[in-house]
Amino acid sequence: MAAPHSDATLIVGASQAGVQLAATLRELGDTRPIVLVGDEPHAPYQRPPLSKAYLQGEITSDDLVFRTADWFAQHDVEVVTGETIAAIERHVDGGGEALTATGRRIPFARLALTTGAEPRRLDLPGIDLPGVHYLRTADDAAAIAERLATAHSLVVIGGGFIGLEVAASARKRGVAVTVLEAAPRLVGRVVSERTSAFYLDAHRRRGIDVVLDARIAGIEGTDAVSGVRLDDGTVIHADVVLVGIGVVPRTELAEQLGLEVDGGIVVDAACRTSDPTIVAAGDCALMPNPYARGSMPMVRLESVHNALEQAKVAAATLMGDPRDYRTTPWFWSDQADIKLQIAGLSTGYDATVLRGDPETERFSVLYYRAGELIAADCVNQPLDFMAVRSALARGATIPAEAAADITVPLKKSVVESAAPSLV
Ligand SMILES: Cc1cc2nc3c(=O)[nH]c(=O)nc-3n(C[C@H](O)[C@H](O)[C@H](O)COP(=O)(O)OP(=O)(O)OC[C@H]3O[C@@H](n4cnc5c(N)ncnc54)[C@H](O)[C@@H]3O)c2cc1C
Repeated sequence: MAAPHSDATLIVGASQAGVQLAATLRELGDTRPIVLVGDEPHAPYQRPPLSKAYLQGEITSDDLVFRTADWFAQHDVEVVTGETIAAIERHVDGGGEALTATGRRIPFARLALTTGAEPRRLDLPGIDLPGVHYLRTADDAAAIAERLATAHSLVVIGGGFIGLEVAASARKRGVAVTVLEAAPRLVGRVVSERTSAFYLDAHRRRGIDVVLDARIAGIEGTDAVSGVRLDDGTVIHADVVLVGIGVVPRTELAEQLGLEVDGGIVVDAACRTSDPTIVAAGDCALMPNPYARGSMPMVRLESVHNALEQAKVAAATLMGDPRDYRTTPWFWSDQADIKLQIAGLSTGYDATVLRGDPETERFSVLYYRAGELIAADCVNQPLDFMAVRSALARGATIPAEAAADITVPLKKSVVESAAPSLV
């Protein structure tokens, strides 16, 4: 453990962003101590497979680990698991001391917050019954997998990515699945109506019941969940319920430190918080994103790619060499055999172009604002995804008229953009 007046960098949150931050500090030649503290009882692991391969029984928890104990030892990164940082005291010199929930004191010279996000909780009668689950951690996934092993029916509350991934994984295991979505379409917060409509059809084709505009009155059951009651009195039988209604960023430490928080820890393009000596990165951070092109300039992204890229930026800032976050955002979601890849940010789009036929389960939707390409949803179309991602990365565009022509590879339609470059 670091000495009381330590030269250490303390990274709070031992997941994608936290581990990447430590790795980049070492790559940049930082030889000072690094202490990475996480409140989960496991070595850092990746979350995306939890709702996919792990729930389908294709991999085990050992396969989730993305850096081995040897890697941490070789890179001299001290990993503390199962400890929550409950409070942080600052010293006048900019350093400070963190206090864990078990009373351990961890002094530091530099501080990084990579505290991520946690599931948004639902307030409903019966929500605390055994068999009602949220999914964020490996322990959550293990509990769901155990239930699904003997379950005949699953109700998923929330038709977002995680809900639909779990629905598809459970269906693959032969479980009867109903998805209840409060909005008039699936994944409505992120994708266009066309992509939403595709998901509705695709999941129904695979035997999943989907109820849109669902109004839930409560969870039924005595000793354990037995169903979900809608406000029209219908009860949908459920041996397991998964609530997937989004996440909220973990900002409690930032608030305690008096940092600016606004639905995320507010950072600048170099990951500096309102106290420029403290950085934040990943799901917890709200950052000006050039790809939002002014429509909603502060964005909090929830993706592995964003967590990794922001962590690299935060590490450079801690090394005294700040550089702006400029990477093209991208995201993926695997639902059964449907791979969605999203490049760019579609917020504020004013037109879309459909490329291909959704009935074939291979198509893309390209998003435009003021005639400029800003994003694309690519369903089982990795080449379209790569073309859009690389066009956006170099500030180029794809004219809408050319985009719809599936006889021409998208990369051949990339042209220079008239819009000011982001890169
Ligand atoms: C089931 C699931 C599927 C997903 N699928 C995809 C996908 O397909 N594609 C994709 O791009 N993204 C996906 N994501 C999102 C992706 O996993 C997150 O964007 C990513 O994990 C963010 O990394 P992070 O390090 O910022 O935060 P997190 O992974 O949330 O990690 C933050 C860590 O900090 C810990 N922590 C918080 N506060 C404290 C404290 N005070 N003291 C100690 N520790 C603390 C938390 O417990 C947590 O372990 C998925 C997420 C889930 C849950």
